[in-house]
Amino acid sequence: MAEYRYLIIGGGMTADAACRGIRDHDADGSIGLFSEEAHEPYARPPLSKALWKSKEESSIWRGTPGLGVEVHTSRAITALDLDARTATDAAGETHAWQTLMLATGGTPRRVDAWDDGVVYFRTLDHFRRLRELAGDGVRVAVIGGGFIGSEIAAALVTNGCAVSIVFPEEGIGARLFPGALARFVNGYYREQGVDVLAGESVAAVSRDGEAFRVVTDGGREIECDAVVAGLGIVPRTELAEAAGLAVADGVLVDELGRVDGREDVFAAGDVARFPVAALGGTRRVEHEDHANSHGRAVGANMAGAGEPYSHLPFFYSDLFDLGYEAVGDLDPSLEILEEWAEPNRKGVVCYAEAGVPRGFLLWDVWGKVDAATGLVRAGEPVDESGLRALLD
Ligand SMILES: Cc1cc2nc3c(=O)[nH]c(=O)nc-3n(C[C@H](O)[C@H](O)[C@H](O)COP(=O)(O)OP(=O)(O)OC[C@H]3O[C@@H](n4cnc5c(N)ncnc54)[C@H](O)[C@@H]3O)c2cc1C
Repeated sequence: MAEYRYLIIGGGMTADAACRGIRDHDADGSIGLFSEEAHEPYARPPLSKALWKSKEESSIWRGTPGLGVEVHTSRAITALDLDARTATDAAGETHAWQTLMLATGGTPRRVDAWDDGVVYFRTLDHFRRLRELAGDGVRVAVIGGGFIGSEIAAALVTNGCAVSIVFPEEGIGARLFPGALARFVNGYYREQGVDVLAGESVAAVSRDGEAFRVVTDGGREIECDAVVAGLGIVPRTELAEAAGLAVADGVLVDELGRVDGREDVFAAGDVARFPVAALGGTRRVEHEDHANSHGRAVGANMAGAGEPYSHLPFFYSDLFDLGYEAVGDLDPSLEILEEWAEPNRKGVVCYAEAGVPRGFLLWDVWGKVDAATGLVRAGEPVDESGLRALLD
C-alpha cells in the first residue's frame, strides 16, 4: 500500500492549485493525486471559450506532474476510512495518507427522463465530442441560459452551427443580471443568429436514430443533431457524506479549509462551503478564481501555513463580444444601482442592501475588480459618484 504525505481526491483546477500551495511550503513531501477523469488537471474555462476560437487544446494543461506529484488518472476514489487514514479506489486498491484533500468539484445536474445522448457539458471529453460534431449547418439545441448554455451557444453559432437556446427565465443570465440587461442579451443573441426561446421549459428530449427532438412546455418542437445542457452542477459530496463528514450543499470547511475541525482532512474549490467574512455567512463558489485561490490557500494550510482564507473571489464570462467581470453576490432580487457609460454596453451594476454593496457586475469594464472588492469589503453605502469612479 502506497502512503502519501498528502493525498488529493480530484483532478480539476482546485487539485492542481492545492499541489502548488503544498509545494510553496513543502518542497518534497509526497503528493498523490487521484482523478476520475482520464486526463491530468486542465483549465475548464477554455472549453466553452478560447478552444472554439484560435487557442490550441495543448494550452489547457496545468503541468501538475511537473510539481513532483504522482498523478493517477482514471482512478476514482470510492471510499474513505478516516480512522485508518486510507482511501480506496475503484480498482479496490487502498492508499494511505497523512493529510487528505477533497477537491471533487461538481457534476452536471441531469434529467433522467431525457434521452441519454444529451451532452451535459463540463469536461474535455465533452468538448472533444462537441467540437467534432460542430460545423456549418449542424443544428444544436442548447438547454439552459446560465454560464454554460450562453457560452456554448455563442461558441457553436460562431462555428457555423444553427443554434436554439431554451431556458425558463426571461433572459440569458437572468439569475445574475437585472431584468432589462438579461432581455437585452436575448436581443443581442438573436442579432448573432441564435434562436432564443426565453421563458420556455423543456418538457421532453427524445431521439430517433441520429436526430433529436426537444419539446418545450410552450409547445415548441426543435429538431436537431445534438443537444447540450447546462443546468448547473451538484457538488460531489458523496465520499464526505459516506465518511460521516459535515455536508450541507457542499462539504463544510472552516477558514483554513479544514473539514469538521479535523487537522488532517481538508476540502476546497467547487465542492467546499466556506465562511466569507466580507459578506457574512458561508458560500459555495463555482468559479475559476476561487478554484485557484482557495485550492492554493488550503493546499498551503495542509502543509502547515495556518493562513485563514479571506479572498473574495471574482468571476467573468464572455458572450460573443460582450464580456464582464464580477465580484460578490450577484442577486437581482437585491437593490440594483446602475451607472452606464453606454446603456447595456458598458457600465457598472451594484447589488446592494440598504445602499451597502454586496456585489458588482463590471460590464465591459476592466481592471476594476480590486476597487469593486474594496467597496464590498468597506461595507459603506455607495452613491452615484462611487459607481462612476469605477467607470473612469
Ligand atoms: C465549460 C466551463 C467553463 C467555465 N468557465 C468559467 C469562466 O469563464 N469563469 C469562471 O470563473 N469559472 C468558469 N468555470 C468554472 C470553473 O472552471 C470551476 O469553478 C472550476 O473548474 C472548479 O474546479 P474544481 O477542481 O473545484 O472542480 P472540478 O472542475 O469539478 O474538478 C473536480 C475533479 O474531481 C474529479 N472527481 C470527482 N470525484 C472524484 C472521486 N471520487 N475520485 C477521483 N476524482 C474525482 C472529477 O472527475 C474532476 O476531475 C467554467 C466551468 C466549465 C465547465
